[in-house]
Amino acid sequence: MDNCIFCKIINGDIPSQKIYEDDKVLVFKDINPEAPVHILAIPKEHIESVNEINEENSLIINHIFLVISKVTKDLGIDKTGYRIVNNCGKDGLQTVPHLHFHVFGGKTLKWPPV
Ligand code: 5GP
Ligand code: ZN
Repeated sequence: MDNCIFCKIINGDIPSQKIYEDDKVLVFKDINPEAPVHILAIPKEHIESVNEINEENSLIINHIFLVISKVTKDLGIDKTGYRIVNNCGKDGLQTVPHLHFHVFGGKTLKWPPV
């Protein structure tokens, strides 16, 4: 989609540090990391947020979580643990309107996040 930062990253118009890529999903490092490991897993299809998940496109969520399970093993944080975060909409403080899952790891995280 025009003017979407993450679609531009997918297209290669904006550079990123890619961790994993296949025909449906891209995983790359967050530009402003909040933890030693802070990556973003996104669908290549432009889906704005969880609000736009439906019967037709929901298989991508299954695939993204399979990819996260693989990538976190490759990064060596599967044993120490990590957190997956999705921010949705205004109150969720979503700043990029292209569905994405943050994965934070590499340190003991704080809780609660609110
Ligand atoms: P949100 O607040 O929407 O949940 O998260 C958006 C995330 O995208 C933020 O953590 C922000 O640092 C990251 N981000 C925004 N623009 C870019 C960019 O151009 N490149 C990369 N790698 N990350 C970005
Ligand atoms: Zn997009």
